[in-house]
Amino acid sequence: MRFRIFLLAWAALAAGAQTRIVLRAGALLDGKGGVFHDRQIVIEGSRIVSVGAPTEKPTYDLARLTIMPGWIDTHVHINWHMDANRKSVNSREAPELEALYTAGDAWITLQGGFTTVQSLGAAMDGVVRDRINQGVIPGPRLLSSLRQINADSGQPRGDLASLRALVRKTKEEGADVIKLFATSGLGAGGGQTMTAEQIQAVCQEAKAVGLRSVVHAIGDAGARAAVEAGCTSIEHGTFLSDATLDLMARLGTYFDPNLLVLHNYLDNRASFSFNERQLDILEKGIAPTEDVLRRARARKLKIVFGTDAVAGSHGRNAEEFIYRVKDAGEKPMDALISATSVSAEALGLGNEIGTLAAGFQADLVATEGNPLDDITAVRRVVFVMKGGRIYKGP
Ligand SMILES: [Zn+2]
Repeated sequence: MRFRIFLLAWAALAAGAQTRIVLRAGALLDGKGGVFHDRQIVIEGSRIVSVGAPTEKPTYDLARLTIMPGWIDTHVHINWHMDANRKSVNSREAPELEALYTAGDAWITLQGGFTTVQSLGAAMDGVVRDRINQGVIPGPRLLSSLRQINADSGQPRGDLASLRALVRKTKEEGADVIKLFATSGLGAGGGQTMTAEQIQAVCQEAKAVGLRSVVHAIGDAGARAAVEAGCTSIEHGTFLSDATLDLMARLGTYFDPNLLVLHNYLDNRASFSFNERQLDILEKGIAPTEDVLRRARARKLKIVFGTDAVAGSHGRNAEEFIYRVKDAGEKPMDALISATSVSAEALGLGNEIGTLAAGFQADLVATEGNPLDDITAVRRVVFVMKGGRIYKGP
């Protein structure tokens, strides 16, 4: 009984039972390119009600910090984790272990400043997502594809009608997005694996049931077919041609390049089972990823912020900012807008999150130091609020 009362109290707090919080911000980045100094943010319940000149004594004085919208990672695998011996585990595990590791990784992701993540994805995501949304365990807002669709999915395998049926089933099971593999992985060369007809069937059916479709595509041919099929976003896009990037710019296809995943595999090689040849391919994938990010920026594509976080990356998703700025030459402001308002728009949540302004959800992160001056400030997250509730901070 006492435990139940505790849970109810926790749920009420998580729902932001009309508490009023006043924050003082030293520097404020609004997620859309705006930079302000010495501001007051008023939060009531789960939402920001005003941002302006200071008039009140703050509940929390963050005058030494830089405050911005909570960061969004559009590509994680939240269930994929290290075991007790620091070996990568992605499947064939007792469900109670997978559930707890997934919940733990959700917690450290939130502590790292990410208040929303999209997991692409496994069935366990949905269980953890629903408990987070109930307010009974802490974690970022979590969206998930619940499964991944490829050329052999469905029954009969790969049949167009069966692929469409699988999309509808995935929707019925509660998915927030459809994930499909148009090409093989980087290690296998990234060649096209689904036919153009299969890609069209999946992306069109997703649209018909009101879901976005995000496409793993390493090589240009599979990516091109996905863009032409009207899919929502291209993940990785390692070897996208200029012509395909031009088409994406014209059609408004989102682009989600990922650097952290490659560095993570190389830095934690003992935890994964890659051979020398595969490690070499991963290492050689870094320069083209930096290059395609630069070419996409030059074309003003809608670039979201995704890390492809697997075992070893959770909690340090913010390293992607540093790779993008230091290695790929991205402007810090562009990277921050990418991880806030652009990613929010890409997830269909552009009116709820990703912008620090009145009316938006009070999802906030504050860093020691200003990432516009020193991008490594993203490693110094000292305050995290999600939906008006503080998960890290003073
Ligand atoms: Zn992935």
